[in-house]
Amino acid sequence: MLTLSEAQSAILARVRPAADTERVPLARARGRFLAEAVAARVDNPAFDNSAMDGYALAHADLAVHGRVLPVRGESSAGSRPPTLVPGSAMRIFTGAPLPAGADTVVMQEDVQRDGERARFAAAVRPGDHVRRRGEDFRAGEALYERGRRLSSYDLALLSAAGVPEVAVYRSPRALVVATGDELVAPGAPLAPGQIYESNRLATRLQLEALGIEVTDGGIVRDDPQSLRALLAGATGYDFVVTSGGVSVGEHDLVKQVFAEIGEIDLWKVKIKPGKPVAFGRVGERTHFFALPGNPVSSLVTYKLFVEPALYAWHHGRQPWLQLPAIAINAFRRQAGRMEFLRARLVNDGAELCVECLAGQGSHMLGPIRYTNGLICLAEDSTGFAAGERVTTIPLS
Ligand code: AMP
Ligand code: MG
Repeated sequence: MLTLSEAQSAILARVRPAADTERVPLARARGRFLAEAVAARVDNPAFDNSAMDGYALAHADLAVHGRVLPVRGESSAGSRPPTLVPGSAMRIFTGAPLPAGADTVVMQEDVQRDGERARFAAAVRPGDHVRRRGEDFRAGEALYERGRRLSSYDLALLSAAGVPEVAVYRSPRALVVATGDELVAPGAPLAPGQIYESNRLATRLQLEALGIEVTDGGIVRDDPQSLRALLAGATGYDFVVTSGGVSVGEHDLVKQVFAEIGEIDLWKVKIKPGKPVAFGRVGERTHFFALPGNPVSSLVTYKLFVEPALYAWHHGRQPWLQLPAIAINAFRRQAGRMEFLRARLVNDGAELCVECLAGQGSHMLGPIRYTNGLICLAEDSTGFAAGERVTTIPLS
């Protein structure tokens, strides 16, 4: 059995990254992955300007004129940069160009206005409240690398940098399938022995949140013919994600059919939950993930294997945040596999704390209500006591 990092490396090494790109306006680029590096087209700030409503002046004039200067002219946002009359101060507003000849802005709260003259407070330093051209970034400066997934904040930055559209990778297509004779979609009544299916929806929505076009392959019975029929069209997709039927039972046929139509690169990883997980390829470009059927295993293996592969497909890297937290309650176990426990992260004053939720069985969905993270236990860990520091992975 492979360890988690061996399995993740093996998967990442086998991902065939996307080649097709398209150009989209910023308003349609959120959540997409950049197919090119992007540089700023302008300096930001574009010109020296005022950070305050107040008065622009040459700092040296304050000492010469006993901190009292006549007020001449005005600079407002959107106006052309004016020129300061030597020995005077100019009315100025936030974002307005600093007049030529001025080097300092005094905010109006520090100014006593007396008709055409203004008296300035003593504690004015040269350069106060001036935003310098290019102090944020410069025209031509690299802002983003290829493979970067764009957030709404990123798009705001690109907009400020004068970039109207970006090249992104085309959205991958995925087929999502649940397998199992016992599975029924909610809405239909349950016959004895049947259960409501949930993995397909969770997987589909997580894929869609990453901008992937998902085809719902529905629920497939545990028989090789139906599975073959469904997977006959697998090469039309970039990703196929199935759940269930990948363990060692006689009805676990996904792995068998997967081996017939494609090539399995790995099966079984030393983690809990989610040990039986298979990854491989069908044809040249279809990545196949057979996730285990237990709902929690499916969720964890999606996060650990599918998501990093999706980022890699887009030439990117999955952001992976691990946070140390103080355990609120104890958890004991036998060492062996790396384990992921569903947990609730909470701030207790300055400390990040974490509660290990009751009901860790991989079939138990109830604790999902309180889950906003996972506690990650190393292979050799036998658990933790309350008050101990543990490693967590936030999920939201
Ligand atoms: P399997 O991986 O097919 O052996 O299934 C393991 C367990 O997960 C069994 O208890 C199944 O009933 C359950 N299961 C499998 N697929 C799903 C699904 N899509 N939704 C909910 N439970 C499932
Ligand atoms: Mg099954």
